[in-house]
Amino acid sequence: MTKRPEVIDLALAGNLHLLEKAITLPPVFQNAACIKVDPDLFFAESPRKVAAAKAICATCPIRTKCLNWALENEEYGIFGGTTPEERKAMLAGVTPIDDSKLRKMQEQLALILSPDINRAIATFNVNKRTIYRWRDLLQRGQQQAF
Ligand code: SF4
Repeated sequence: MTKRPEVIDLALAGNLHLLEKAITLPPVFQNAACIKVDPDLFFAESPRKVAAAKAICATCPIRTKCLNWALENEEYGIFGGTTPEERKAMLAGVTPIDDSKLRKMQEQLALILSPDINRAIATFNVNKRTIYRWRDLLQRGQQQAF
């Protein structure tokens, strides 16, 4: 029997960006735009400083990773261009994904987007047209998320 992979449900919900999350602060943070900025700026409360911190985040090459990490791990401060209140609002509409499920969906994503379409057809027991439809959905989701 055919079972739609979880990664497709995630893409349909517009939450494909969650696959980019990291559980602990990853080495990629060495590329952060804030690496040499006073960390206090990212925990300030004045609107002017919050805006300044957000402006730095806007230039950051790892903004999406940072945001996903902060959604899971940070209650305070500006991360990924968001305030704690903004992250709370985002989380209200998003169910966190546990690690094993996350890995499984990352594998599904790679398999569906792999050039070897026959492996995806065999694994998910669907026809070629379904895989092409899923690919289109995932690629559109990736463009919005990453
Ligand atoms: S998104 Fe902002 S807080 Fe996160 S690493 Fe980049 S500059 Fe720092």
